[in-house]
Amino acid sequence: MTVDTSGKVTTDSDVTGRRGIVLVLCAPSGTGKTTLTKRLLKEFPRFAFSISYTTRQPREGEVHGKDYYFVTEEEFCEKRDVGFFAEWAEVHGKFYGTPKQATLDKLQQGYDIIFDIDVQGASQLYGNLKQGCYVFILPPSRAELERRLRGRGTDDEQTILRRIANAQKELEQAHWFNAWIVNDDLDKAYDQLRSAYIAATLSPQSSPDLVDSIMEDWR
Ligand code: 5GP
Repeated sequence: MTVDTSGKVTTDSDVTGRRGIVLVLCAPSGTGKTTLTKRLLKEFPRFAFSISYTTRQPREGEVHGKDYYFVTEEEFCEKRDVGFFAEWAEVHGKFYGTPKQATLDKLQQGYDIIFDIDVQGASQLYGNLKQGCYVFILPPSRAELERRLRGRGTDDEQTILRRIANAQKELEQAHWFNAWIVNDDLDKAYDQLRSAYIAATLSPQSSPDLVDSIMEDWR
């Protein structure tokens, strides 16, 4: 695998004969993305989760180095300025970023990687990687999203209102994604997500040498 000076990544084939898949999940907060991500990680051992850096405070139960790397704004900006991130964005007034080298290492080891990032980050990542499966998870309605955010009980009123306003901006960016999944029923949404993932593993981009290797028998 190589990275050029602009951060563009080219991955090599892994030991199992296919390249690691980049699966990017975007969704407004409260859409069920974290639950869906955990289910995929549990069902498919080949998946690794991309652990982001953030300047927001940890929520109850979140673990540094597992859910996020929680850093100060100063630390984040230092890393950003030396090109540490494959993508980064300001979301809900806090910084979030994906570490470049850790991503490359996991792809090199043959893992498929799930990215739980916002739409700005997804579009930067697509610009760098030019590959991957980009899935947008939609709430069934504004009212349902609001109900879920309040029910979660993790954010104050101001944060909830900001997240709802941001959801509209994010939904406006959903048009370029490879798949749209409405999470009105968690089991159904999960089935659709795993289908999108499995379809991505079957793409020629994932196994560019497959047909040639089968055609060896004809030569
Ligand atoms: P939360 O604070 O609720 O965990 O995440 C808020 C938003 O930040 C979510 O939309 C999440 O997908 C996004 N996010 C988390 N990590 C990253 C990252 O590394 N890069 C970008 N661009 N967004 C991220």
